[in-house]
Amino acid sequence: MKDLVRKRVLVTGGAGFLGSFLCERLLRNGHEVICVDNFFTGRKKNILHLLDDPYFEIVRHDVTFPLYVEVQEIYNLACPASPIHYQHDPVQTTKTNVHGAINMLGLAKRLGAKIFQASTSEVYGDPEVHPQSEDYWGHVNPVGHRSCYDEGKRCAETLFFDYHRQHRLRIKVARIFNTYGPRMHPDDGRVVSNFICQALRNEDLTIFGDGTQTRAFCYVEDLIDACVRLMEITDDDFTGPVNIGNPGEFSIGRLAEMVIEMTGSKSRVCYEPLPSDDPRRRRPDIALAKEALGWEPSTALEDGLARTIEYFDGLMREAAPD
Ligand code: NAD
Ligand code: UDP
Repeated sequence: MKDLVRKRVLVTGGAGFLGSFLCERLLRNGHEVICVDNFFTGRKKNILHLLDDPYFEIVRHDVTFPLYVEVQEIYNLACPASPIHYQHDPVQTTKTNVHGAINMLGLAKRLGAKIFQASTSEVYGDPEVHPQSEDYWGHVNPVGHRSCYDEGKRCAETLFFDYHRQHRLRIKVARIFNTYGPRMHPDDGRVVSNFICQALRNEDLTIFGDGTQTRAFCYVEDLIDACVRLMEITDDDFTGPVNIGNPGEFSIGRLAEMVIEMTGSKSRVCYEPLPSDDPRRRRPDIALAKEALGWEPSTALEDGLARTIEYFDGLMREAAPD
């Protein structure tokens, strides 16, 4: 039978894009949520609607410093996810990933709490295997501009698995592929938010490189559903890593066409240099997620884009002078 006991759950990075949806879902599922965030990329606005809930609490805190709270479960999401933000202060990004993981794992060890790690498809780097399954070890540049994030997340995975082996800590590791949706930061530089904001302003859509590189885009609600399912697996030997993403693969050029079409924008596309180490192809093999979580994404890119366009359109109307 499903466990209906109210748990106290810590969500680090809870004021961010994914974190805010996760806090919302956990509250809806009847849990108590402590949201910890240093508001580097997260915003109060993302969680404003949760503040009146007596079971929701915010703590302003940087996870690179130790944290003392009492919880039964921890979701560790704290870390900027967009390349411009994680490259803004790369040393802090590595610290957030590594010291942050050590602090949260230490907390989990003291409390005997189960802990979830938001890992990433970036652990596969610029992959030589396609699609990527969990047994692929990746192709990552250790000294490039993306390394603070990619290697930071890889080291965090190592720490999670060593705490599991050494201290029998209960861990669940998800490798999250590109996820999009409402509440992405409009200036966060990721492709979906950039293209939509540019299209809504009738500005040229900036394609980096020739636009033939691919990504697979997962809608945020699908992603959160998979994260919660993974955490709820009671078999402590099932640790992951598990790929979570939408296997529909699109070129960046095609995404630009779709956004222009769906917004009815007058925008055209323009081409800018491809950033270094930008992965050429990416698509998750989600066979393990299907089998172990009984999960697969249900939101088609067109539907998710429509909801995301509506969100950014609303934001721009709010910001526009009367
Ligand atoms: P986001 O930038 O919107 O959210 C990250 C949150 O972490 C923000 O609220 C930020 O203020 C907070 N944060 C950053 N450093 C912190 C620190 N030192 N202490 C406390 N809080 C800190 O990004 P997101 O898209 O919501 O990503 C959430 C997590 O999921 C990240 O760990 C990211 O690496 C992972 N992930 C996201 C994607 C995606 O496509 N969105 C893909 C793969 C992995
Ligand atoms: N990209 C682009 N124009 C933009 C922003 C991104 O062409 O305005 C490209 C980027 O070079 C990459 C892809 O879109 O090839 C996805 O970029 P994003 O930053 O969203 O995620 P990541 O590279 O981390 O997968």
